[in-house]
Amino acid sequence: MVQVNDNFSQLPKSYLFSEVARRIAEYKSSNGGSDVIRMDIGDVTRPLFHSVIAAMHDAVDELASSSSFHGYGPEQGYSFLREAISLHDYHGRGLDIDPADIFISDGAKSDLGNLGDIYSRDCTVAVMNPSYPVYVDDSVIDGRAGDIIHGKWSRLVYLDCDPGNRFMPSLPEKKADVIFLCFPNNPTGEAITKDELSRWVDYARENGSLIIYDSAYEAFVRQPGMVRSIYEIEGAEEVAIEIRSFSKTAGFTGLRCGYTVVPRKLKGRYSDGTDVSLNTLWNRRQCTKFNGASYVAQKGAAAVYTPEGMEDVKRVTDYYMGNAAIIKSAFSKIGFNAYGGDNSPYVWVSAGADKDSWQIFEQLLHICGFSTTPGSGFGTKGEGYIRLTGFNSRENTETAMSRLVASGIRM
Ligand SMILES: *Cc1c(COP(=O)(O)O)cnc(C)c1O
Repeated sequence: MVQVNDNFSQLPKSYLFSEVARRIAEYKSSNGGSDVIRMDIGDVTRPLFHSVIAAMHDAVDELASSSSFHGYGPEQGYSFLREAISLHDYHGRGLDIDPADIFISDGAKSDLGNLGDIYSRDCTVAVMNPSYPVYVDDSVIDGRAGDIIHGKWSRLVYLDCDPGNRFMPSLPEKKADVIFLCFPNNPTGEAITKDELSRWVDYARENGSLIIYDSAYEAFVRQPGMVRSIYEIEGAEEVAIEIRSFSKTAGFTGLRCGYTVVPRKLKGRYSDGTDVSLNTLWNRRQCTKFNGASYVAQKGAAAVYTPEGMEDVKRVTDYYMGNAAIIKSAFSKIGFNAYGGDNSPYVWVSAGADKDSWQIFEQLLHICGFSTTPGSGFGTKGEGYIRLTGFNSRENTETAMSRLVASGIRM
């Protein structure tokens, strides 16, 4: 038998979302199959835009004819899409990111892990606590996490987020080489201001750190002054990679398309001291291990930047944000502290210091018939919290929240 990567044996046994699904199924089977409203879903539910569908139909027709057929595309992505991104998401907002800095992907999650190919196994990785579980699990698989002790990995640096710091992590006490930041944040739903993010860019510049900035929810930012791109911070092109996705913005979770910005100004260093551009390394990595995102998906993504597509993004994200507002107000009404939801589809609810997350998950499931995501699945600092999402339909969201208010559950 082949010897396998030992790091897998250390990964937590059950991925958070499968445990949630298991408990929902168990509840359903012991309650005569009664319906559960999924307020935990981390997936969008609105269909693709007409503009996107039309562009993809055209793309399929092109592939159907020998005169317009496309085979392998550029590993970095088609220039029509890289140019549209550069123009609308960056230059149009006064940010100097060129098509050559942009790499099209099949989504954010793959690149979050794949980037681990270009920085050293010896790097110390910092993650927000709580955080999207992928940053931690990728670090475990690549052998950068150490051993798990009382729910924490010995080699990771944890950036604690709680109401005391308004879920804005403090700078690490120990030097971190690679720092995963995500704003608007999943799971807390909180967005970051320019001043707050500037401290991180300054830290990275002073310490030679790399920031991997997950900006999957930038299209949900509503309050002026909240950051949508890390490149809004001066000097960030020298220290930060930004990861984005059409998934939550334009309903591409099933279609798969995203992009990663690796600015040509961003440098790293080999162990012998020579400098290298991370853009060059990432390009080499992609050309070796990736053969480009689907032509059809990239044509669909380009349609997101048409006037119609951009209106659709606003309309659909507004819809989800409307749901988030309903959730936040229902929990607040019965005395819970509810965070996020103003610049992201996530609402992060504190159940109180004495509660554990699975306990409140079970209570809401059994009393109100809706599911949530237990905060403890996002890290030790998520204990005592649950995450709700605005991704269900308006009708289901309203039903779930009126059950909550009528339930008699009070904080
Ligand atoms: C959903 C999500 C992603 C994954 O996006 P894909 O492009 O669908 O892979 C990345 N980061 C965060 C924080 C997310 O919530």
